[in-house]
Amino acid sequence: MRFLILGPNGSGKGTQAEMLKDELGVPHISTGEMLRAAVAAGTPAGVEAAPIMAAGGLVPDEVMLRTLEERLGEPDAKDGWILDGYPRNVAQAHALDRLLGASDRAVDRVIVLEVPDEVILERCRVRFAAEHRPDDDPEIVRERLALFHNRTQPVIELYTGRGIVEAVDGVGEVDEVFGRILAGLPR
Ligand code: AMP
Repeated sequence: MRFLILGPNGSGKGTQAEMLKDELGVPHISTGEMLRAAVAAGTPAGVEAAPIMAAGGLVPDEVMLRTLEERLGEPDAKDGWILDGYPRNVAQAHALDRLLGASDRAVDRVIVLEVPDEVILERCRVRFAAEHRPDDDPEIVRERLALFHNRTQPVIELYTGRGIVEAVDGVGEVDEVFGRILAGLPR
């Protein structure tokens, strides 16, 4: 079971991936979480990523691939995973193909959480007012939404062409959205 979960920042993909992990019994691998841990630990990758993340940009593909390759090589990832936050552009999708192809594994299913920009902007506005997470700053949110549309949407099209995309309406309560995800999974 090799799942991807894609959606704009603020679509709730981290929360849904965490719930899906319990349901499917495979690890939830979030590239954003891995980067935040690298930043906190002050590793070379973290030092490189920190200013890019703060500005809402994309961390270089080579850094991402190295981080991911290491993580997917760990024993708990042997039988599958839910990958959250990768690939974010077509070059990363091809890099993932090569990585998985080399070990004769492929992506089985891609869950795409669909949430309109206005809803994302409102969710982040509310969260920014309450928690002051710098990446919820409205300017940064707009930057990340633009990147999602310009760079990640083509990734979704690529997987749609392979017939493995499950598009899920991401507007609603957490449990409601999770129910939609489960209903769409192959039995
Ligand atoms: P996330 O938690 O998925 O929203 O990721 C937080 C930040 O980490 C993003 O805004 C990017 O700066 C960076 N990041 C996470 N995943 C990737 C990726 N696959 N490629 C490039 N940058 C990433």
